[in-house]
Parts: sequence; C-alpha cells; structure tokens
Amino acid sequence: MTRPVIGIFGGTFNPVHIGHLRAAIEVAEALSLAGVEFVPAARPPHKSGEPMLDFELRLLLCRLAVEAVDGFRVNAMEADRPGPSYTCDTLAELREARPGEEFCFILGMGDLLGLATWKRGLQLGRMASLAVHAREGLGLEVFTVFLKSNAAAMGAAPTDDPAVWELPEGRHITFVPVARLDVSASDIRERWRQKKRIDGLLSEAVLRELKQREDALEAAWAR
Ligand code: ATP
Repeated sequence: MTRPVIGIFGGTFNPVHIGHLRAAIEVAEALSLAGVEFVPAARPPHKSGEPMLDFELRLLLCRLAVEAVDGFRVNAMEADRPGPSYTCDTLAELREARPGEEFCFILGMGDLLGLATWKRGLQLGRMASLAVHAREGLGLEVFTVFLKSNAAAMGAAPTDDPAVWELPEGRHITFVPVARLDVSASDIRERWRQKKRIDGLLSEAVLRELKQREDALEAAWAR
C-alpha cells in the first residue's frame, strides 16, 4: 500500500492570505495530497528584520483560514524548537515522528530560486518530495533552468514530463501551475499602514480577527 502524502506548507504567514490558501488548494488537487498542513515559522531565518505579528496570532489566523477546508490543518511544531526555524529541521522531525507518512514540501517559485541560501536547502529533496508552484509569473521555464543547474546538488533527474523531476528514494519535485493571485503579506501590511481596506485579500474569518486585534497590528506592523 502506498503511504499517504501530506503537503507541508511553510511560511511566515504575516498574515495568511488568499494567495496562500489558493496555492495550497491547487497543489493539493494537482498532486492528490491526503491533506495539507500549514506550518508557520516561529522564527523565520530570512525575515528576522521584518515587522511581524506574534507567532501565536499568526498561528490563530492560519487556523481560521483553513478551518473550512477539508483535509487542511495547522501544525504548530516550530514553536517548540529554539533558534531559527529551519525547514530542514522541520522535515527531519516530521520524518522521525510520523514514519507511516510521506511528506511533500510546498513552496513558491521565488523560494525555489533562493533555496541554495537555506540551511541544507538543496538537500530538502532527500527528506521530502517538493511541489513548486508558479508565483508572480515565474513558471515552467524558470523551474527547468533552476533544475538543470542544480540537478547534481539535489540528486535530481529529468523525466519525460518537464514539470516532474525524479529525486532520490522515489520522490519527485513537481512544478504546479496555479492561478496567479498577486497578493502578498507585505502588500497587505503596506495597505494597512496607509489605512486602506484589506477586505477581499484575506478570508472573512481572518479579516474579522484582525479587526479585533488593532493593538497587536499597531505593535507589529506600524513603523
Ligand atoms: P511577504 O510579502 O511578507 O514576503 P508572502 O505573502 O510572500 O509574504 P510568505 O509567508 O512568505 O508570504 O509565503 C509562504 C509561501 O507562500 C511562499 O512559498 C510563497 O511563495 C507563497 N505565497 C505567498 N503569496 C502567494 C501568492 N499570492 N500566490 C502563491 N503563493 C504565494
């Protein structure tokens, strides 16, 4: 019997928005994932200088965002680990704790392009499959160029399908074209600073919670 594959969607989620949700839903559908876990970074290594909501609030917002989506949940595991929240440590921990499951780490194209700067970034495919979704117009062409120049380091080999490369131990790295939604957490924070409306960019439940947390937003996002 093949093991269920769970999508692991890491991010800062400062705050979680509809771009995150749609990307995760479309990847889950394209790869027939058994579920998706949003894993907010407690201490994101690449975003330490950014004005950030507390981990607990980012976690709550993620829970509100996914509660209506079947098979989606939030995993708070990065809260307990001291130091920067490295994805390689998260994947190693998941493998050890849940040997009956396979994991597929979901990341946007921008993150793929920066993977060499992550701790053991080019080794992530030795711990989990990878699903890379299009972002900001970056698609299959960029994916292919990246894989060609990093194939040796990642242990990747092409298949007949240009969107799928083999990884060690029967895993794959797959490009998934998702609907382009030009929404970002930084744009939402900027609109909030300018006192513009952010309706429509976040799920209703997330927006409702944010409206009740003006003090927290003020403390985290105001400059
Ligand atoms: P920021 O604007 O603060 O940098 P962000 O909106 O890019 O944040 P992150 O939490 O850093 O959000 O992203 C987590 C993951 O979600 C990344 O892999 C990122 O590429 C992806 N992502 C973010 N926004 C979108 C979007 N609009 N469409 C598809 N993927 C997205």
